Amino acid sequence: MSGWIDAHNHLQDARLGDHDSIIRSMREAGIEKCIVNATREDDWSKVESLAIAHPDFIIPAFGIHPWHAHTACPGWQERLTALLIKYPQSSIGECGLDRWIDSPSIEIQTPIFIDQLRIARELNRCATIHCLRAWEPLFDAFKHQAPPEKFLLHSFNGSIEIAHRLIPLGARFSFSGYFLKPEKSRTIEVFRQLPPELILLETDAPDMTPPAEFTTHPLAGNLNHPANLPAISDTLAKALHTSPEHLADLTRANTVDCFTIS
Ligand SMILES: [Zn+2]
Repeated sequence: MSGWIDAHNHLQDARLGDHDSIIRSMREAGIEKCIVNATREDDWSKVESLAIAHPDFIIPAFGIHPWHAHTACPGWQERLTALLIKYPQSSIGECGLDRWIDSPSIEIQTPIFIDQLRIARELNRCATIHCLRAWEPLFDAFKHQAPPEKFLLHSFNGSIEIAHRLIPLGARFSFSGYFLKPEKSRTIEVFRQLPPELILLETDAPDMTPPAEFTTHPLAGNLNHPANLPAISDTLAKALHTSPEHLADLTRANTVDCFTIS
């Protein structure tokens, strides 16, 4: 069995503290690589620094999260394009649409999201999408701008019907440990019905903390340590009635394929 890949986290987040000790714990837990997602232009350089310091471990993703859409400054599209070209393994993330929050409004979020889809498609890069209570706006955005060939719905919590509308467009779906909560069992049911080759695993650390019984690396403030990934994987494997080794190998291969990484 090869190591796990965390398909989505935010290691640059200051709440995680010392990156070196976090990464050491991840490696000790058997994690081989991770996709580190920026959230706004302000943290692109932090993600870039991590990728430079740990080139064999960190694959950067640069983008503007819907919660930060209002912070986009003129010329961001050119700066984002230049970064993506500079790092050939990088992807766009985290971008998306969110109606769970009121501000910034979906009207502010949408053009920022559509521009990121366009750049991802032009450069043939994967896009990691956050979509919360905004499925119809997402499909509307795809009518304006077709998504790139492959894109990841991270911490996917949509229905199987939504998944079936997304799959022909190139969607992949990542599972985060937060959905191991008993009251979120509907999400596991959806993952049971997804084509196995489209399933990825993520932590979304430092957010989306799994329930305490699946947390091998507790952090103060109930933050999610990215080294919790193997426990999340093993628990999901049980729920999907497959072996831990099979799910680890499958999701690793799916992540390599989704992000076209080596
Ligand atoms: Zn995230």
